[in-house]
Amino acid sequence: MKKSEIQKKYNKKIKLIKKYNYYYYNKSNPIVDDQAYDILKREILQLEIDYNFLKSRNSPLIAIGYKPSKNFEKFSHKVPMLSLGNAFSEKDLVNFEKKIRNYLSIKNNFEIYYSAEPKIDGISASLTFKKGEFYKGLSRGDGKEGEDITENLKTIKDIPKKISNKDFPEEIDIRGEVFIKNSDFKSLNEKFANPRNAASGSLRQKNPEETKKIPLKFIAYTFGYEKGLKVYNQSDFLKKLSEWGFKTNPLNKLTTEIKNLMENYNEIEKKRANLDFDIDGIVYKVNDFAMQRRLGNVANAPRWAIAHKFSSNKAVSKILDIEIQIGRTGALTPVAKIKPINIGGVIVSNATLHNEDEINRKDIRVGDTAVIERAGDVIPHILAVDKKKRLKNSKKYIFPKNCPSCGSETIKEFNIITKKVDAVRRCSSEGYYCDKISIEKLKHFVSKEAFNIDGFGKKIVENFWKLKLIKYPQDIFNLDFLKIETLDGWGKLSVQNLKYSIDQKKNISLERFIYSLGIRHIGLENAKLLSKHFVSFSEFKNLSKQFNYEDLINIDGIGETQVNSIKSFFSNEVNKRILNELEKVLLIKDANLISNDGLLKNKTFLVTGKLNGISRAEIKSLIEENSGKTISSVSKKLNFLIIGEKPTKKKVDYAKQLEIKVIDQAKFLKMLNKTS
Ligand code: NAD
Repeated sequence: MKKSEIQKKYNKKIKLIKKYNYYYYNKSNPIVDDQAYDILKREILQLEIDYNFLKSRNSPLIAIGYKPSKNFEKFSHKVPMLSLGNAFSEKDLVNFEKKIRNYLSIKNNFEIYYSAEPKIDGISASLTFKKGEFYKGLSRGDGKEGEDITENLKTIKDIPKKISNKDFPEEIDIRGEVFIKNSDFKSLNEKFANPRNAASGSLRQKNPEETKKIPLKFIAYTFGYEKGLKVYNQSDFLKKLSEWGFKTNPLNKLTTEIKNLMENYNEIEKKRANLDFDIDGIVYKVNDFAMQRRLGNVANAPRWAIAHKFSSNKAVSKILDIEIQIGRTGALTPVAKIKPINIGGVIVSNATLHNEDEINRKDIRVGDTAVIERAGDVIPHILAVDKKKRLKNSKKYIFPKNCPSCGSETIKEFNIITKKVDAVRRCSSEGYYCDKISIEKLKHFVSKEAFNIDGFGKKIVENFWKLKLIKYPQDIFNLDFLKIETLDGWGKLSVQNLKYSIDQKKNISLERFIYSLGIRHIGLENAKLLSKHFVSFSEFKNLSKQFNYEDLINIDGIGETQVNSIKSFFSNEVNKRILNELEKVLLIKDANLISNDGLLKNKTFLVTGKLNGISRAEIKSLIEENSGKTISSVSKKLNFLIIGEKPTKKKVDYAKQLEIKVIDQAKFLKMLNKTS
């Protein structure tokens, strides 16, 4: 790679990390999880190692936090507030100690003592005390300057406001972590992703009265500037802190040798789920202050301390229960309810167990201590359980042989394509007989690609179901709006809007209608094939009277699995009744046999951004019905780029560069002589 390309790549990553820092430190609202952040950080550091011409003041090797917000007055820290170097493995710890021995030129038989302190995942603050009085409190900010958050800190009960012990220094900055207990976070009901963000958001409120509403805690662990401190090591300092009235961490430990640090780390990692505060690792500090002074600092962290981080994609917690979720097609999916745990900034309380085979293979049981993995956007899952920690009376998990919702037998089907028995167990009932399946079917019916009823989401389906307002799809078109108006959270206007959205969707194409029925194995593409084949709803409905197998299997793209599924759908009386009832309230449009001479003939389209009230599938059909074509990227072949809300800037810019017509939804509809 050319030097200029490397520089460009590096600059791009630096720009990105700056953006992440802004949202994390300044807005208390991260836009990526810690795992993604840490990967980017490592990539930048690796580039700097590989190419020594790369330098930036925003490099994670130099930068600390984010510059103070304009909302607060800023003040300099008399002694900078640093970050910490990270260790992820025993090898990293061995290296850490080796560097200390080399730097101080001390022999291997000299034992270095460390203060091992759980690293609370909160936000640090520096409290200046003058003559025993709490005088000023600053946030870390960018390490050099912090925000004056004195009034907010004063609302924290754990912070003593006046200290009269004789040995309390004349002036000292007491530093520690402001955090919120997990139990308090649970009852907060706010928009924060995790307790750290909640604590950060609350502490940096402009109005201390707002801060007061959230029960913040403070644990002290170090000091900055001091005048008159007569303590010579960290463990004694921690003792002094509690004598002076500060809270310290009960899990702090004085220890030596890497193997003991590792043992302590593993023990605390297992205890983590039971603690009432989030920790994201263990900090080790050389205990002796004289040694600390000799070691000094590197760019943004002390040489005498390191944070041994817990993995940002794995954690240990307890399985509280195993719940069975039932999907639209009757599939039974086991889900482990776990004691909530923070994995890389995201609170995880559910982990998928996939299916019965997975539970058996890993012998997963209720009450087990388990390692849970959460990687990227994948649903968290159980990696393994600790059989040694299992109680004697623990029982093997027996997968339900009957559907937990309707009691029907559960079955594993034989897959004719793979010639194997499915790993998934299913409820054998026929659709609407099982309550859980019905609810899922209704959610599918109103979903985006199906009826796409604005404002009729999953929560509303569940709620209306509970209130017995809906049981079958046709009920959606015969709702008791007067009753809904009296429900909590509903009013005249919202009911009017809902009624309007439902009425709007009474007019539907045959293909979307077929898709919305949720017939197993009939997705969007198959629904399209069927609608082209039958053309009208009445022809499609005729399948209930006369099921011609040969006729269906001859449709290109439809196989035996789909035909059997359609057959089973039409042999069910409830389904037939639903079709009859829906026919009465809907206007199901015949499938337009695609004309080659429509309004959009020879024109290509691409959509970017969110459209208003039209799903991607719908606009694609609309284009195709009018002889147009959709393509998947901006290129010279594209004629029109349709932009919705929050379009991809890159696509718009590139389209403009290629002089492609960029139009909005209204302009597009105008091309079809439509207004909405
Ligand atoms: P850090 O959190 O890794 O370590 C330094 C901090 O540890 C100190 O400032 C202090 O607040 C805290 N700490 C807790 N207990 C302590 C103790 N006993 N002694 C000393 N310090 C203690 O450093 P950082 O620079 O604040 O944050 C870096 C990490 O934060 C990243 O690696 C990432 O995981 C996360 N982060 C995430 C995002 C995101 O967008 N998701 C953005 C920025 C940072």
